[in-house]
Amino acid sequence: MNIHVDQPVEKPPLTIRLCGPRGFCAGVDRAIQIVVLALKAYGAPVYVRHEIVHNRYVVEGLEAKGAVFVEELDEIPAEHRQQPVVFSAHGVPKSVPEDAQARNLFYLDATCPLVSKVHKQAMRHQRLGRHVILIGHAGHPEVIGTMGQLPEGTVSLIETIEDAEVYVPADPANLGFVTQTTLSVDDTAGVIAKLHERFPLLQAPAADSICYATTNRQDAVKEAAPGCDLFIVVGAPNSSNSKRLVEVALRAGAKQSMLVQRASELDWDQIGAIGTLGISAGASAPEVIVEEIIEAFRSRYAATVELAITAEETENFLVNRELRNVPLTREDMAFVNG
Ligand code: SF4
Repeated sequence: MNIHVDQPVEKPPLTIRLCGPRGFCAGVDRAIQIVVLALKAYGAPVYVRHEIVHNRYVVEGLEAKGAVFVEELDEIPAEHRQQPVVFSAHGVPKSVPEDAQARNLFYLDATCPLVSKVHKQAMRHQRLGRHVILIGHAGHPEVIGTMGQLPEGTVSLIETIEDAEVYVPADPANLGFVTQTTLSVDDTAGVIAKLHERFPLLQAPAADSICYATTNRQDAVKEAAPGCDLFIVVGAPNSSNSKRLVEVALRAGAKQSMLVQRASELDWDQIGAIGTLGISAGASAPEVIVEEIIEAFRSRYAATVELAITAEETENFLVNRELRNVPLTREDMAFVNG
């Protein structure tokens, strides 16, 4: 009789370069806290206009707690008008709070303070008689919100360097620009340089519009990506800052880069034979999913994790005044923090 003994299969070695900072930024953390605190303070349902942040895991976790996501305010049933409605971290056009007031709705604005700062800079340009150029991606909720701070006809959207090359303003001597907060730092610098070359009197905002979280995550990816066989960015396909990280990784030298929402999406055939893996996460991706993905690689590789830390972040934004006395426990946020 032949006895067959299975030999343990040796796992191939893998170095994982884990970027820091990665994942949640202060604006996303605040927005999630606002929904959780509103649920505690006012009970379910709490309505949320648009995905509070671009992450299904977070959205589903909040739905399980009693949040109801709507795209427009008229979806809120009349019998729930006394329940709060939260506006997402991306910001909303001025018409949305006006509409909420007209409908007698109680709203809590979770717009990130750094997006509100861009709104103020755009309005300042306009107050000073400048036509506003917004550099950003058409259709993104943040762009819709920023354009909606200004009267129609006073703002133009520029998406690319090609747009900047052909843009014809009514008065080239009276222009001011702001940008979406989550753009590629390098691409945006190119668009701004082109606009400055064509319109030397173009006025910049008083402070950079691209936020600290976007800049820090891109810097960390630039540092970690060279020499990576694969670079994974944890994030959603509609998350602007996550998509930019994939582009940054490829430009910085990663052989392959992909956006992944959950470990179950990993396509092991496509991943193939790799020795060095970079991992980062967009500003709306919870750490629990990063850990899930590292575990998935550990199950197939003898993985060693190296930290690639390029900055420390200490930013923390206060929630709305109405919610500051509501206690927030670790358990309240456990569904996103793992
Ligand atoms: S990515 Fe930047 S602007 Fe957007 S929510 Fe985070 S901190 Fe705010």
